[in-house]
Amino acid sequence: MSVRVVARIRPLLKAELDRDIVVHGTSSSDGGPNGDIDTIRIPNPRNENEEFSFQFNSVYGVQATQEDIFQNEAESSGVGGQLIRIVAPTINHLFQGFDVTIFAYGVTGTGKTHTMRGGKTLSERGVIPRLLSGIYRRSRKLEKDSQGATSVEVSMSYYEIYNDRVYDLFEAPEKRTAPGLPLREQNGKTFVVGLTERPCASLKEFENLYDQANVNRSTSATKLNAHSSRSHAILCVKVSVTTGEETRVSMASAIDLAGSEDNRRTENGKERLVESASINKSLFVLAQCVEAISKKQARIPYRESKMTRILSLGQNNGLTIMVLNLAPVRSYHLDTLSSLNFANRTKKIEVKEIENEPMFRGPAPIRTLPSVSGPSIQRQP
Ligand code: ADP
Ligand code: MG
Repeated sequence: MSVRVVARIRPLLKAELDRDIVVHGTSSSDGGPNGDIDTIRIPNPRNENEEFSFQFNSVYGVQATQEDIFQNEAESSGVGGQLIRIVAPTINHLFQGFDVTIFAYGVTGTGKTHTMRGGKTLSERGVIPRLLSGIYRRSRKLEKDSQGATSVEVSMSYYEIYNDRVYDLFEAPEKRTAPGLPLREQNGKTFVVGLTERPCASLKEFENLYDQANVNRSTSATKLNAHSSRSHAILCVKVSVTTGEETRVSMASAIDLAGSEDNRRTENGKERLVESASINKSLFVLAQCVEAISKKQARIPYRESKMTRILSLGQNNGLTIMVLNLAPVRSYHLDTLSSLNFANRTKKIEVKEIENEPMFRGPAPIRTLPSVSGPSIQRQP
């Protein structure tokens, strides 16, 4: 299965004008004629009479609500697989023992944080709180249906990568040590050493921890966006399903990447340039990885940045969804085009889905476990 790319065009902001719209989307979910494909169209900046078009798994236009992006399970299972929805299928996947990765990519100010985190009200909640809400709902149902024989535990860790350094978002910024936390590889997965893992038994508990940690996320004003995030924020949610002696652990990663803009065009001051260069570096390495993978090169430069080591696209990510956030207006034209080109390459990347093996408490069962690097399981959720 390849990386799924879901493009979302945000609405115009107050200061933006209709006549500056250059990005157009067609979506099969808009109720257009049958067979409509999800396409983004944008003029060639060098010759406006020419148009480029890009096809993705789904395209959401300016009217799309947070609920549309999430789509509840009942609806998503009813449409005969016509539409690929973002989050609801990932919950099925998690409870079947697979990992899932959802990452938002785009220029600063295009709606990454809005999509992933969203606003305070119920209807404005983004992918992350909806994902968690779905996980808790499914957990309660499993526990009830099994009459207590099965129990589910949820825990979270949350960190950011800033200037190629990893910081625990449960730690106050003033407590950070300069080098940040180290990474380590185990069983083909990269993880952060020394990260706080907090159990969260309910959505309320999750939201409290998540909000508290978000205050610690580095933000600072740039010309593009008053609350521009120049760090990658990575939320890991661990779901452990225990029945008797057997526990199966799967992981959902939700990543709000730093802005992908070309900082040579944002007139940043000197201090900012160091940080910008670093953000650009990890996204640049990500683009190089994608290119190396698509050209089937032997060496993929994952190790050249922490973000790419952690994301390790095309390795053991499980179900992988990239949300491509786009602003519709001309002032983003060149950056939008480079995001679209990046997404176009990313959508071809094959990801392996490896079913997490159950772990056992008590006496080990007599059976041979297949190796982690075994055959990938091609299963659609
Ligand atoms: P990013 O995280 O990519 O920098 P934000 O999520 O902060 O972008 O969005 C930039 C601005 O656009 C914010 O004011 C946000 O509220 C608004 N915005 C983004 N997407 C939408 C949307 N789908 N509907 C309404 N407002 C949006
Ligand atoms: Mg943001």
